Amino acid sequence: MYRRVLLKISGEALSSTERPVCFEKIEKTALDVKKLHDAGIQVGIVTGGGNIMRGRDAAEQDRSRMDNMGMLATAINALALQDCLIRIGVPTVVMSAVAMNRFCEEFTARGAVQALEDGKVVLFAAGSGCPYFSTDTAASLRALEIQADALLLAKNIDAVYSADPKKDPNAKRYSHLTYQKVLDDRLQATDLTAITLCREQGLPILVFALKEIERVAAGETVGTRIDNVEA
Ligand code: UDP
Repeated sequence: MYRRVLLKISGEALSSTERPVCFEKIEKTALDVKKLHDAGIQVGIVTGGGNIMRGRDAAEQDRSRMDNMGMLATAINALALQDCLIRIGVPTVVMSAVAMNRFCEEFTARGAVQALEDGKVVLFAAGSGCPYFSTDTAASLRALEIQADALLLAKNIDAVYSADPKKDPNAKRYSHLTYQKVLDDRLQATDLTAITLCREQGLPILVFALKEIERVAAGETVGTRIDNVEA
């Protein structure tokens, strides 16, 4: 059972084919977040922004400027998720890595921990505040700063596989992996910077399908756990 977690929610969990910011999907995601909160777990969330803008898609555009736009996209998602959480009675605060004082608070680790201990879900906007990083890396960073027990990577796939199971029927499903194995086999769990940071600090990662979150909240074994424990 977890006491405090950092949940990473990708932009795709907040969008539909028709709309990049889809409130039906966001309301559903908010209900999933509520399950963790209702289980008495302190929840910090890093929202992705890939449903709106991804800096790495830059072609002739300036990469840093595109990344700044991507970080703004994560803030749009955080505010949308906050709206849905508040409507279903979950107290939340949005904290941004870059100053947006009219919309949300500025991130400090101390302020975030205080809000978590006060029973609020804390939504971390604008990733790390720096270009050339992903929100997975920002999630591992924030997880460490708030001293979370684990980094929860909620995906639309239920675990880490050796290959895409939709394309390869022989893809192996992992219930446990070491950080080293993820790195050696270049498994698609999270990006290199995020996995390296987690490995250095011994922060466990759980990769699972968002729809399984109730089981995660109940402390059941779901998805893939990544840590440094050799099998
Ligand atoms: N981004 C950034 N620095 C960060 C986090 C995010 O520059 O610390 C930018 C980057 O352009 C990224 C975009 O924000 O592509 C959206 O984040 P991400 O692609 O990680 O979102 P997701 O794919 O999880 O929805």
